[in-house]
Amino acid sequence: MPEPSGILEEMTIDDLRELAPNVAVIPLGSTEPHGPALPLGTDTFQTDVLAKRATRLARERGARVVCYPTLPITLNNNCRKFPFACRVGVRTFMSMLTDIIEQAYADGVRRVLILNGHGGNNETVGALMRDLAARDDVPFVCVTSGGMASPEASAMIEHPSEHGGEREASYQMYVRPDLVRHDKLADNPRGQATLPSLRNPAVQFVRPWHAHVPVSAGGEQRKASAEKGKAIIESAAANIATLLVELSEAPESADFPY
Ligand SMILES: [Zn+2]
Repeated sequence: MPEPSGILEEMTIDDLRELAPNVAVIPLGSTEPHGPALPLGTDTFQTDVLAKRATRLARERGARVVCYPTLPITLNNNCRKFPFACRVGVRTFMSMLTDIIEQAYADGVRRVLILNGHGGNNETVGALMRDLAARDDVPFVCVTSGGMASPEASAMIEHPSEHGGEREASYQMYVRPDLVRHDKLADNPRGQATLPSLRNPAVQFVRPWHAHVPVSAGGEQRKASAEKGKAIIESAAANIATLLVELSEAPESADFPY
């Protein structure tokens, strides 16, 4: 394993000064219900493993990357009818991320990768990047997710689901097998809007999750496996590591990344 590791929580102040990171990974988890079979920490657990794995792989290739602690409470307004769908407000979330990114810039970071493990954050992270694009005194910011896995690895999932389905069950079987309730794995129901035009994915709205996935997880989970989870996470980690290496090695320029 390369030293320093790049994992912020594991390093000392001397490690950090030696590494002098120019790239930061900010992993976004979430704590919210994922149905009867999976833990509330599902998004946080899988994102934490993915972020640290990608960081270690990038460090092995010489990237000066630091991985922040995975944020466990993000956006869940659409889940508020479920208990303990932990959330902060959209404006709070944008302010918090802005503060973290400003501090990273002050500490020498010039490129930030937000690793988003929770779909409820997508639009707001987009708005954050758009907001920061108005300024010169912040790092370059980009965002990705487990969607960085290869098409071959992603195709192992036989029953795609937006929340708590085969993919997330497979991740948990790999990263936290002790927390998966195998006797509760099921084909969980999914609701849809009664207005036909609102089922067109070209029309976007915030879906009330208690109606969209009534048991707080949706879709067929019973084809999930630790092997699938491992293949997808390892594939995504390898591709994210390459992105981190590119971000770290590219010279600074006024028109970066062009
Ligand atoms: Zn999830």
